[in-house]
Amino acid sequence: MSITPLMPVYPRCGVRPVRGEHCHLISEDGRRFLDFASGIAVNALGHSHKGLIGAIQKQAETLMHVSNLYGSPQGEKIAQRLVDLTFADTVFFTNSGAEAVECAIKTARAYHQSVGNEDKFELITFNNAFHGRTMATISASSQDKMHKGFLPLLPGFKYCDFNDLEAAKAAIGPNTAGFLVEPIQGEGGIREASDEFLQGLRKLCDEHDLMLVLDEVQSGVGRAGTFYAYEQYGIEPDIMATAKGIGGGFPVGACLATEKAARGMVFGTHGSTYGGNPFAMAAVGAILDVVPDETFLAEVRAKGDRLKARIEQFIGNYPELFEGVRGRGLFIGIKLKTEPRPFVAHLRDNHGVLTVAAGDNVVRVLPPLVIDDSHIDEFMEKLSAGAESYQPQEAG
Ligand SMILES: *Cc1c(COP(=O)(O)O)cnc(C)c1O
Repeated sequence: MSITPLMPVYPRCGVRPVRGEHCHLISEDGRRFLDFASGIAVNALGHSHKGLIGAIQKQAETLMHVSNLYGSPQGEKIAQRLVDLTFADTVFFTNSGAEAVECAIKTARAYHQSVGNEDKFELITFNNAFHGRTMATISASSQDKMHKGFLPLLPGFKYCDFNDLEAAKAAIGPNTAGFLVEPIQGEGGIREASDEFLQGLRKLCDEHDLMLVLDEVQSGVGRAGTFYAYEQYGIEPDIMATAKGIGGGFPVGACLATEKAARGMVFGTHGSTYGGNPFAMAAVGAILDVVPDETFLAEVRAKGDRLKARIEQFIGNYPELFEGVRGRGLFIGIKLKTEPRPFVAHLRDNHGVLTVAAGDNVVRVLPPLVIDDSHIDEFMEKLSAGAESYQPQEAG
């Protein structure tokens, strides 16, 4: 047999982490890495955070799981906290980002069905978006490479160029239910929606009674410097998917909605065996104890500004390698002149720092939100040594 026991869908690299210490990872062979990937924007509080560990340990001893057939004091409390912190009136807990987006898609469709707009089932989505790997969420993405081998797609999605408000407006038709959009595209390469674009989509939704569905699975939970990125655009969505940082490493996500948007999500329309179980709620509670605090978020913005300014200043030394830096908070992208994967591998294998490649030739810099200046210094030293020693023909 030549297939591996782990289904070989990931081209895994040689780093095999076995332990985490705050902002560092230690691999099986003893190497130590500065973790500026954070499990792709998941480990918001870094590794081995006392509050998160304590909450999970305590909950494991008390009650890990009960069915959603029973009342959930744990879920009610966390949902109320999310409602208080956001635009939302109601929350459905999931186990992942893709499931949160799935629930968001169902909520948007169910809204229109419940008000008698039987024909309005189509969501307009945007090129280079990433919404997950389920059938609905790959169908929501225009990227052919995610579709190959899995046809037919789920109908009901139409793609437009990101940040092209005129195209989005022109795409509205009799079947349009709303827009599904990342305020800042993550996998697409830290591409920020313009104010005009996101505010324009909000206005179109108001004019045509459409649902504005935000995918904040990557941009949310403090990553972009506010609890959710939409706050920086002066708009509010009708529906929003969140995950990644919300559990700090525990697999949990959520679909948030206004009362109006959720009017179709009544008894029996949706469910999840694990969704929102006490174990997951303990993890989310520990994250909510730290991240939404205004002082903490101001720190994320300040650290992000310092890190970005230093990267910006530094990359000017290597104009043949780097094109620029973008993003906000600790959601940062360094755009290269060439394919980023070999550079990410070089930084990892030869300089002990973890980053993540993304679309548009971008290296994503996603440190834990709890870094301090010593980690910024360490990153800059490693980036600098990495740029100095980089031979672009190096194999990835
Ligand atoms: C990661 C991601 C998802 C999918 O989340 P999973 O937990 O991997 O299912 C969806 N949308 C965005 C924007 C993401 O970054």
